[in-house]
Amino acid sequence: MFKINDNYQKLPGSYLFSTIAKKVNAYQEANPEKNLIRLGIGDVTQPIAPAIIDALHGAVDEMGHAETFHGYAPDLGYEFLRSAIAKNDYQARGCDISPDEIFVSDGAKSDSANIQEIFSVENKIAVCDPVYPVYVDSNVMAGRTGTYDPATEMWSDVIYMPCTKENNFVPEFPKQVPDMIYLCLPNNPTGTTLTKDQLQMWVDYANKVGAVILYDGAYEAYISEDNVAHTIYECEGARTCAIELKSFSKNAGFTGVRLGYTVVPKDLKCDDVALHGMWARRHGTKFNGAPYIVQRAGEAVYSDAGKAQLKEQVAYYMKNAAAIKNGLQEAGYEVFGGVNAPYIWLKTPDQMTSWQFFDYLLETANVVGTPGSGFGPSGEGYFRLTAFGTYENTLAALERIKAM
Ligand SMILES: *Cc1c(COP(=O)(O)O)cnc(C)c1O
Repeated sequence: MFKINDNYQKLPGSYLFSTIAKKVNAYQEANPEKNLIRLGIGDVTQPIAPAIIDALHGAVDEMGHAETFHGYAPDLGYEFLRSAIAKNDYQARGCDISPDEIFVSDGAKSDSANIQEIFSVENKIAVCDPVYPVYVDSNVMAGRTGTYDPATEMWSDVIYMPCTKENNFVPEFPKQVPDMIYLCLPNNPTGTTLTKDQLQMWVDYANKVGAVILYDGAYEAYISEDNVAHTIYECEGARTCAIELKSFSKNAGFTGVRLGYTVVPKDLKCDDVALHGMWARRHGTKFNGAPYIVQRAGEAVYSDAGKAQLKEQVAYYMKNAAAIKNGLQEAGYEVFGGVNAPYIWLKTPDQMTSWQFFDYLLETANVVGTPGSGFGPSGEGYFRLTAFGTYENTLAALERIKAM
């Protein structure tokens, strides 16, 4: 009889967003006349920018002619895209990253889940709490997290770094030394981030203790403050301790188009073994490349027209973020984030739990958000609203919340 990967059996409960969807559907069925406003799931709503649509059309047409048809893409990505990324996202910021250190993929979720494969299962991981659930769950599947305690909602072999208002959402160096440190900055779900100086301290720490930082920069485009790094490679020494994961989903609306990349610097080594070669091998064996059409769309993200249009798109969402932040503050809520990220993280009022506030908001204001406890035990007592709705819906949701 075959055996299964038992680690999957250890995963607790269902996925956060399916639980929310069930509750919302049940409420809507019972109250068909109610008009719900969804500020829950972190998906974009604005259409793909015109410069990118043009690039997509052009690439589709190329596929229809033998002379310009493209089959399998190079495993690691087309040179035109890797060069555009290296030039715009790194070299323009004074960061020494070359095109051949960039691995193009179909998105940051898969990369952030897959990257753990090149590390030993003995490694101890450290995550911020609350956290993007993929980091922990992918390590559970790999058998790296020990046993789950439903009472504390923690895994025995995971180091949790609480990020709450008490520490200004700045993780402290853990007592136990980690081997792999996940950092998502600016952060989903809290919408907060670290300053460049604070990030530098993490880079110094990782180099000192021999840990690797897995740096998720999915929300980099939303940074508005000058003292925040746009890539971890702005920090000195990051080339020897950090892998950066990037996505085109949030800066360019590619959640349905699918494109991302991972940077593995050649200086990142375990003894004499370069991780660059390992990830190249992994990528080449298990991935057959992001579509040509989509990589051309990715290239257009870095064109002058693309940059200008996307700047406007990000500004649109950040106008929502400011409206939510200010509106909630006026209504007496304690709010965080929303300055360098499209997420607003609020403290639930009157000692409500995250799920109590979810129900209250759903039933009283017909607004859907995300309970903080779904992102980890330290998220209890918090709630996430996203700025990815339309401006009109965002304002309408705020009016309803103010009237509660
Ligand atoms: C949305 C998001 C991503 C992007 O994932 P894609 O697979 O590229 O769509 C990555 N990390 C975090 C924390 C996110 O919120």
